[in-house]
Amino acid sequence: MKPRIAYTKPSVTELEVGYATDAARSGWGDSCYEYIGRFEAAFSDHLGVKHAIATSSCTGALHMGLAAMAVGAGDEVILADTNWIASAAPIVHLGATPVFVDVLPDSWCLDPSRVEAAITSRTKAIVAVHLYGNLCAMDALLTIGRRHGIPIVEDAAEAIGSIYLGKPAGSMGIFGSFSFHGTKTLTTGEGGLFVTNDSELYERVLTLSNHGRRRGQKKQFWPDVVGFKYKMSNIQAALGLGQVQRVDQLVARKRAILKYYRERLEVPGQTSMNPEPDGSVNGSWMPTVVFDHASGVHSENLRAAFAEENIDARVFFHPLSGLPMFSEQRENTVAWDLPSRAINLPSFHDITTGEQDRVIEVVLRLLNG
Ligand SMILES: *Cc1c(COP(=O)(O)O)cnc(C)c1O
Repeated sequence: MKPRIAYTKPSVTELEVGYATDAARSGWGDSCYEYIGRFEAAFSDHLGVKHAIATSSCTGALHMGLAAMAVGAGDEVILADTNWIASAAPIVHLGATPVFVDVLPDSWCLDPSRVEAAITSRTKAIVAVHLYGNLCAMDALLTIGRRHGIPIVEDAAEAIGSIYLGKPAGSMGIFGSFSFHGTKTLTTGEGGLFVTNDSELYERVLTLSNHGRRRGQKKQFWPDVVGFKYKMSNIQAALGLGQVQRVDQLVARKRAILKYYRERLEVPGQTSMNPEPDGSVNGSWMPTVVFDHASGVHSENLRAAFAEENIDARVFFHPLSGLPMFSEQRENTVAWDLPSRAINLPSFHDITTGEQDRVIEVVLRLLNG
């Protein structure tokens, strides 16, 4: 058996280890929030947003942000059918209904015309998830949002380093969320972040994130509302600070890995990969190949071929409406069709050219069948 090629693994250097060690040694008592503050400041500075709140996960950031927007029972929230459950779970936990709409065939992100058609008097928000680093059609979505008075939330968990017409992913909506799970471009093991330019929303989320205790509340142990406990620890934030300081390097490496794959695997009429339309930068979190119908390549032979070569390639997201707790929406034809002919390729920071070549060989062998 050839050596295993992992799908993702983080890049952690002495910088992060040094900060985390310092946090473990002395980040207690009066300095127990020090790295959290530094991490939040460094990240909001990087993104060019006013406010950031570090959280235990992206799911938690979405949960608190949507709660602060008063999403609740009877409300509907629109998002793409092609998604990870994390973007939908907070909507369900708040008692609202996720409304799954189809995606565009090239970006695999929300189809704006389907979004507009799905709007009802109950629609409270639209969650734009930038899938695999690919950007949603933000201009169209923001225009639709303005026309109907519905805020756009950005789940940018997969889009660190992605830039839409000069604006970083996560900075364009009413709020943005990020994930620092071990598979993401930046990691703290587990972790997330809430960002916004809306100072009122920030104050509400800050209160919620502190078990409902308002900033400036003089009474101790005095929550003003029922909040959440989705905090990031100081030690995780210390790791995160080092990662943010290396963000340009981490994203550049992701982009180089995708570029290398694209140059060899994008075959007109046979395959397509993560797009990068003019005026945008794709943060390239997850290189993905979609095989055209004409290629005849399907997920069964795909997975077998990679398994045989001991390569950990991953399946494309199943449509959420196909999961047992939701109701099937087969009219979302693009979302339902993509997974059977798409695959995520290994793209960790330290992957070698030789390892990428092994991955490329499998794809080309499948194509030349
Ligand atoms: C990873 C991911 C999440 C979940 O992040 P957690 O930090 O694990 O909660 C949410 N949304 C998207 C789009 C993701 O890729």
